Amino acid sequence: MVFFDNVALGPSPELGFATASLERDAWRRDDQDWLKQAIGSHEARFIAICKDTPVLGFAGGVLQPVFTLGAAKDLGSLGEPLFLGLENARPLFAVDVAAGHFDELKLRDDLKLIDMRSMAMQGLFTPGLLNAIGTAKAMLTWHARHGFCSNCGTASVVASAGWKRRCEACKSEHFPRTDPVVIMLAIRGDECLMGRAPQFPEGRYSCLAGFMEPGETIEDAVRREILEETGVRTGRVRYLEAQPWPFPGSLMIGCLAEALSTEITIDANELADARWFTREEVRQVLQGQHPKDITAPPRMAIANHIMQVFVDRAG
Ligand SMILES: [Zn+2]
Repeated sequence: MVFFDNVALGPSPELGFATASLERDAWRRDDQDWLKQAIGSHEARFIAICKDTPVLGFAGGVLQPVFTLGAAKDLGSLGEPLFLGLENARPLFAVDVAAGHFDELKLRDDLKLIDMRSMAMQGLFTPGLLNAIGTAKAMLTWHARHGFCSNCGTASVVASAGWKRRCEACKSEHFPRTDPVVIMLAIRGDECLMGRAPQFPEGRYSCLAGFMEPGETIEDAVRREILEETGVRTGRVRYLEAQPWPFPGSLMIGCLAEALSTEITIDANELADARWFTREEVRQVLQGQHPKDITAPPRMAIANHIMQVFVDRAG
């Protein structure tokens, strides 16, 4: 039974954004002297993001995901550098390039602007760098959308090298948020439950998923989402692994759930379809060999890995 197997997945280099090599060194975030020295040092590197899109250097056919301070300043007007941590002992920062520069950056021969999903799917960079770029994007997007205090409405300021915003008017502090999402397969014997959202590409089926709500455990959220979307009741829940998902700032929490009922009643607002798949069918889907051309989410997405766990844990 898949629930009782010791699922030790280990590092998943193909799971996008999930493998960190950054040393966050949180104690440096309030050390103004160190930060100032680090930003100006020739060792410092900067991940630059413009309109949610990473800006990459491009020279001699090679993509370069980080810039020196001089090269970053050459991109246009920059926001305040956020300290991500040390990468290979070098201070690594995230900077926002003002949105007005987007079109001119796209025209430059020495740059490429590549969206994060494509970057992850193509495996352009090491897993550690992809994690750092995802962290940079999640942080910068949060700052861009949280310029005002949610308590009193006054404009807030960046603090702790980007890991807080502080309101000088009411003294409240605000922290970059991560929105937890449960993503799971309900399993009944040799079958699992998958669905397709209306916006999915033709033929795509995947795990069910949904945002966690206040007051819920992971297990409660898994059971509620499956019940709401398909009418299927579930019991025991097993956590597998998680994936930071910077679109804009989620954590995907991968689980398996034991189905207690089989009849499906879909929530038409959430799903276009849901049905049971045998383990053999899921294997065909993952291998791109399903007779009805049903396809899986890409390998960099946790849904693909959860489906693979279900297939691998046969018997
Ligand atoms: Zn305030």
